[in-house]
Amino acid sequence: MASPKVDWAKYTDEQESLASKVTNLGISQPTTTPQDGSESSKSDETEDQISPAEKSLLQKIIRKGLVETTKDLEIQRKDPTSPLYSIKTFEALHLKPALLKGVYAMGFNAPSKIQETALPTLLADPPQNMIAQSQSGTGKTAAFVLAMLSRVDPNKDYPQVLCLSPTYELAIQTGEVAAKMSQFCPEIKLKYAVRGEEIARGTKITDHIIIGTPGKVLDWAIKFRFFDLRKISVFVLDEADVMIATQGHQDQCIRIHKLLPRTCQMMFFSATYETAVMEFAEIIVSNPLIIRLLKEEESLDNIKQYYVKCKNMDEKYTAITNIYGVITIGQAIIFCHTRKTAGWLAEKMSKDGHAVAVLSGDLTVEQRIAVLDRFRAGLEKVLITTNVLARGIDVEQVTIVVNFDLPIDQDRQADCATYLHRIGRTGRFGKSGIAINLVDSSHAMQVCQDIEKHFGKKIHYLDAEDAEEIEKIGA
Ligand code: ADP
Repeated sequence: MASPKVDWAKYTDEQESLASKVTNLGISQPTTTPQDGSESSKSDETEDQISPAEKSLLQKIIRKGLVETTKDLEIQRKDPTSPLYSIKTFEALHLKPALLKGVYAMGFNAPSKIQETALPTLLADPPQNMIAQSQSGTGKTAAFVLAMLSRVDPNKDYPQVLCLSPTYELAIQTGEVAAKMSQFCPEIKLKYAVRGEEIARGTKITDHIIIGTPGKVLDWAIKFRFFDLRKISVFVLDEADVMIATQGHQDQCIRIHKLLPRTCQMMFFSATYETAVMEFAEIIVSNPLIIRLLKEEESLDNIKQYYVKCKNMDEKYTAITNIYGVITIGQAIIFCHTRKTAGWLAEKMSKDGHAVAVLSGDLTVEQRIAVLDRFRAGLEKVLITTNVLARGIDVEQVTIVVNFDLPIDQDRQADCATYLHRIGRTGRFGKSGIAINLVDSSHAMQVCQDIEKHFGKKIHYLDAEDAEEIEKIGA
């Protein structure tokens, strides 16, 4: 999907004007901006909430590569005597040469931990069913896309592989992986069954793979009979946890599943492993191999944490530019409590010649994708974002995180979980990083101390006026 060109100056203006409208509407809103992050109105926060599907999408967009993990794979199967294979190279899978070429062209040298075990099972004959659960970024999509592609018989001109995704955007993401991986297999054809895709009545789909959302797939298969579910030999249900969080999707998936042949290979993927997901899995997948990779814990071990005392927003801004001017920073992410602050900061930084991106709740999905695409590509070095939106999004490549406002919960107490998620890194592979907390009130100081106490890790004082001291933190 081509990223639309984005006019940042216009964006910031739009965000600013929108933010000011929102503030003006609030009857009890103070006319001046308090300096401790308390300006956030309830509606600000609610608007910046994102759905599980959007969170998953943003996570995919911002990720550069595999999440490394130290955890061992947990494997369960009904018949423990059946052999279980694991491979260390893609060659060992005996793929079609053109497909193997596609895998290497994507820059994959060796299978990820989950792929080592999942791929031989997914490609085995006779086909085996699988449930795989692991956090986002561990290689699930690449695994099932490879399985989908290698199962296609291009001589048969009807859909043989069906993959369900919770949303339009997630379906497109999967389709793009399939398109890349099959770049040397032009005979394999893929069709999206998503909103906006229309087919003339009476048409029969001749493409081999259908990737779509449950509602559209039901329409195409049952209402319009564009293809025959009884001829599907591989069924993939992706993002099952997001699927069940979306109203009506679970029932639609089950209706589709009922019409598949019993011989159809079932693959079921989820980033989480709660009971509701497993109950859903039991309905969809019989006699599966279950693969589970526990999520890596986040820690502050390799992070140098500092706090800077400021009197107001302008001083916070000066602190950031001082730090930025002295140490050579890779990419930075700055968390603000509200869109208004984010917009204000973005405008100020852009005016000073910094390449900044803003990610906040008032952007459309396409705009968010564009923002994150550009940031991941390094076109902008600084990403300014609001609290709620960024929660749950890992940005591994970022070396410095600034809390323009410290994370607080609804009771204005230290929100330690959010702090850890913003600042922490996972596993022993976790790179070192720098965290800067801007403290501008006694309340913010208290929050900072509570966070320090909670994690038992020192947050050092930093004088942002002192270039020599700043230089030391970057060393
Ligand atoms: P998940 O579906 O679990 O979120 P993905 O399959 O999307 O994981 O993989 C996460 C990232 O890692 C993607 O950028 C993908 O291109 C990359 N990736 C997947 N498998 C490999 C591999 N074997 N080697 C290198 N990179 C990989």
